[in-house]
Order: sequence, then structure tokens, then C-alpha cells
Amino acid sequence: MVEEQNGTASVAPARVLVVGEDPGAASVLADMLRGLWSESLVVTHAEHLGHADRELLDHGATCVLLDLGPPEGDRLAPLRHLRATARDVPIIVLSDDASEEFGLRALNAGAQDYLIKTKLDPALLSRTIRYAIERKRSEVELAHQALHDPLTGLPNRVLFLDRLTVALHRLRRTSAALTVMFLDVDTFKATNDSLGHAAGDRVLIGLADRLQALLRPMDTMARFGGDEFIFLFEDLESEREVVLIVERLSRTASLPITLDGKELSITVSIGIATALDSAIAPDDLIRDADSAMYRAKQQGGARFELFDDASRRRAMERLELERALRQAVERSELRVHYQPRVSLDGEMRLVGFEALVRWEHPLRGLISPDEFIAVAQDTGLIVPIGQYVLEAAVSKIEAWRRVRPDLTIAVNISSRELEDPGLVSTLGRALDASGADPSVLCLELTEATIEHNRELATTTLDALRATGVRLAIDDFGTGYSSLSNLKQLPVDTLKLHESFIARLGSEPSDAAIVGAVVELGHAMGLNVVAEGVETDLQLAALRNLGCDGAQGCLFSRPVPEHEVYALLGSPSWPPPAGHHARSANPDPRTVRIIGGEPNLRRKRVT
Ligand code: C2E
Ligand code: MG
Ligand code: MG
Repeated sequence: MVEEQNGTASVAPARVLVVGEDPGAASVLADMLRGLWSESLVVTHAEHLGHADRELLDHGATCVLLDLGPPEGDRLAPLRHLRATARDVPIIVLSDDASEEFGLRALNAGAQDYLIKTKLDPALLSRTIRYAIERKRSEVELAHQALHDPLTGLPNRVLFLDRLTVALHRLRRTSAALTVMFLDVDTFKATNDSLGHAAGDRVLIGLADRLQALLRPMDTMARFGGDEFIFLFEDLESEREVVLIVERLSRTASLPITLDGKELSITVSIGIATALDSAIAPDDLIRDADSAMYRAKQQGGARFELFDDASRRRAMERLELERALRQAVERSELRVHYQPRVSLDGEMRLVGFEALVRWEHPLRGLISPDEFIAVAQDTGLIVPIGQYVLEAAVSKIEAWRRVRPDLTIAVNISSRELEDPGLVSTLGRALDASGADPSVLCLELTEATIEHNRELATTTLDALRATGVRLAIDDFGTGYSSLSNLKQLPVDTLKLHESFIARLGSEPSDAAIVGAVVELGHAMGLNVVAEGVETDLQLAALRNLGCDGAQGCLFSRPVPEHEVYALLGSPSWPPPAGHHARSANPDPRTVRIIGGEPNLRRKRVT
């Protein structure tokens, strides 16, 4: 092997490796380059492929000149060999063969360029090498961009999936386990919202750097999008090792980060899934780790969860629920039931209904929305479901108002529906079709829904309110609405969550809370309605505290449409005997029911 150096080595020298059996030819090439190459240059020569491999491995190369020698045998075999050893190094083939066809074959086999030895001159050689280096550099850069996340420089989803697929194949031949960890930053949205996106980006970059520093070269860390990162470990042998790593990741993630001189702390939730054989598909393994992470989040975050058999069963059940719900929408198995709302001021009167969706399952009977609303949200099925409920409710209220002109109807809107840009027009269409006045409709949104996307919520709520419909905050008291936020929202009603009502009459602090909310609501010009009223004691306390309205099983469970008419006739509540099973009831926990819902699994009603 010959090594010839040119210039002073202040920057890393360009290393040109000449591969070929003729050492004379190699020094001719070195002489040609030396004349024109002004920067520091090292030309080395390897007579055999074995030498070339060694040189590439030990020192690398900026460019390889492959001298193919006399035309015999499979002439491009050395090119293919070197391509495999040095994927990112440009290779220029030198040959006596002047045919265009051979040149093309060399390019197709991975050469960056092709030069005919007899036509070679220093300028051509030097230019070809420079161009080849440049072309290769941008080729490598493009390939890198396609497989890496631009913000953190980590592998992206595509590269991770590729590595995971290969690792799962490898699992066939080894007895090791393969571990995937899914990491999500807790309350990253709040960090982003309060400090701005640029600061959020810096948090992500800092996190990526410090977590990556914990890994060994064979581990993979990728950014999956947003604040989600995913890890692949191929050789964690025991659960103990897994726990050690995950604890180190969590601890390192929660070390304080300094942003513009201020210290900030974050926590992360991690889900872990392990594959013991290659039977599992890469996507499924990722999904398992993701759902374990989701469980960690649900338990308050800042923790990790392992995906085990029970989790797998739950995930399967959820998938089955998703499939069945999709079918239920197609097969029109959804029903709307209506729960009366009663005014508490003066004489109690029926003043409206809340529309509540149910799923009439052919085998299981009526299924409560608590069981499927979350899945409907995640899959987006809530949009057609909500549309169906809205249209049904608005069309029914018009018919009922012919009997009782003062009735109103409330419909629940979830965050996914609120984000749907078609919501206002869906609403307009439903109102137009029924001829109902917008003011008879009240949309109920929970605090969580509003908090979920505060900016969008405020603009959408303004747009909705501008159509003339009323707005209510549902489950009030369960979220974190600040009073100043509340003041800015165009709402008309607060619906007090049933948990505050449950111990009314027996728990003085709950009475104090309800009293305060009623006062606050009234001071802001809002109506206050109590949910989940089940006993006479609760009712008496609510009336005492000045609450405006109430709903609950004490009056009536949500009933199917055909039972509503029975409730419409009487001007005051309760309706006359025969319509309603209301009577002196010694047990305040006993719920008096007006028909409907024999199979519906209720939350707390005994
Ligand atoms: P929500 O809007 O707060 O509805 C009140 C819930 O309290 C209903 O549960 C109702 O059946 C239940 N309830 C009625 N009386 C009593 C009582 O005396 N005691 C107690 N403890 N609970 C009572 P449901 O029907 O199971 O609905 C649960 C939640 O599902 C609703 O809570 C609402 O957030 C959501 N939901 C229901 N229908 C729809 C819908 O069409 N669209 C959307 N987006 N969400 C819906
Ligand atoms: Mg509601
Ligand atoms: Mg509620």
C-alpha cells in the first residue's frame, strides 16, 4: 500500500483511495491529482479488495478510484463489493472499455461516475472527483433527511419502523428479547402554550440530547412526532434491566432544564412492550407500547407501565368495541333518550330535556355512552353520532313544543365535535330542517372540553353563540375553569356535576360549595342546574340554596321518545299519578323511575 500526501494538513485531508492491481497506474493518478488539488490530499493505494476493505475500515475515504484492469470475468464484482463496504463513499470506475453500454452498467451498479483511462487528464480527473464527492454528499443528505426528524436530528418514524422490522427478524435467530418504549412528555401542551413554540422546541431538543446520551450505539431512539419519542433495545435480558433503563430515562428527563435563565421541570410517561419472538408485527408492538404509555398517563403521568397480557386483552376489547361501534353507526343502532329538566323556582315545572345517546346493542341491550363516547372520540365516530343526536333532538323538540311551547332541549358536544369545522353548518342545517328557533337549543360542553383547546373553544363558542343557540358548561366543578376564564365565555348555564349533589343534605361542605356556585353563577347572570338529583333531601337542599333547575332520577331517568309525551301534559312537576311513580319513599337512595332503560348500566344509581 502506498501513501502520498499533498499540502499541509490543517483541515482533514481528502482521502482518495485507488484500488487496482497496477501500482504504476496508481502513482500516475496520484501525480495527476497533486498538480491540481490545492487542499490537503492523501492518496492511498490498495492492490486487492481485502486491502481496500482494511483501509476503508481503518481510515475511511473521501473518494474511491476503482481501476478495473483487463476486461475478463465479472468485471463489476469489485464495484459491488466496495459498494457494500463503503455505502456513503463515491466510487469512480476507471476502465479501458470505452463502450457506453459498459459505462451505464457501472453506474447502475452504484458507481458515481465512469472514466476511460486512455482519455484521462488531470483536469478531468480532479473535476470528476470533486463532482462525485458533491453528488454523493447531497445524496447522503437527502437520504438522511428522509429518515430523520429535522428538529432533533433523531431517526424518524420510518427509520424506526425499518430498524424494528430488522430487529424482529433477527429475533428468529437469537433467544434475546426486544423491548420498545414509548415516551410522552406530560403536559407538554401547557409548556408550549405558556412559553411559546420556540421554547417548546428547545425543550424537545434538550430532552432528545440528554436521553440519547444515555443510550449505547446499538440502541435506537426516534422521534415519533410532537412530544413523543420511541426507543428500541435489543438486548435487555431481564425485567430488572428494563426497569433500570426506564428509571434512568425518567430521572434524566425530569432534571431541570434552563430556558432563558429560568428553570423548568418536566415529567414523562413511558409505556413498555416486549417481544419474545418474531410473531408480533412491528406496528402492533408499537401500538402495545403506546397503549401502556396511555395507561401511565391516565394514572396521572410521571410513571411507566408495562404492557402485559391484561393490557393486551384490554387493547383487543377496545379494538373490538371500535369495530362494533362503527357497525352500530352503519346499522342505525344508536338511540336518543331524553331526561327531563325541572325548574326549582316557585312551582316545579318541566322546562326541557337533555338528549343522551344510547347504543341499542342486539345482544347486550342498551349500552351507556360512558362505555363508548371515549372510543367514538378517538376514532372520530363522535362526529356522525353527534350529528345524529343533534338532528333527532332538534326535530323532536319542535314537535313537543306544540304541546309545551316553553320547552328547550340540551345536546352534549364533545371536544372532537367542537374541533369539527362543520359544526356550525351542521347546527344550522338541523335547525333549518326542523324550523326550530336557535334559542330552544342548548349545547353542553364540559370544562375539560373547553380547556382542551382554549383558543379554538373561545372562537368556536363565539361563533356558536352568534347563531342564537345557548351554551352550558357541563359537569361544572370537575375541571379547572378559573373564574376569569368563565367570565370570558359566552355561556348561559352552569350544570353542577352530580358528585357535588350526591352528599347534599348530609355533607355540610358540599352544601357550601353548591351555595357558592349558585351565588357565583347568579352574580354572572347564569342559570345554575344541578345534575344527578336522586333524593328529596337533595332536592330540598337545592331549593334552599336557590338553584334554578335540576335533573336526575328523582324526577325521571332518561326515557325513550315514546315515553316523553306522557310527561308533557301536566303544567307542574310531578305529573299526575299514573304518569309517575313518585310517592312517599322511605329510602332516599331508592330511585323512582319512569319507564325506560331496564338494561342500561348506570353510574351510581342503586
Ligand atoms: P352528562 O351530559 O353529564 O349527562 C348526565 C348523566 O347523568 C347521564 O349519563 C345521565 O343518564 C346521568 N344521570 C341521570 N340521572 C342521574 C341520577 O339521578 N344520578 C346519577 N348519578 N346520574 C344520573 P349518561 O346518559 O350515561 O351519559 C354520560 C355522559 O355521556 C354524559 O354526561 C355526556 O357527557 C356523554 N353523552 C351522552 N350523550 C352524548 C351525546 O349525544 N354526545 C356526546 N358528545 N356526549 C354524550
Ligand atoms: Mg350533559
Ligand atoms: Mg354532566
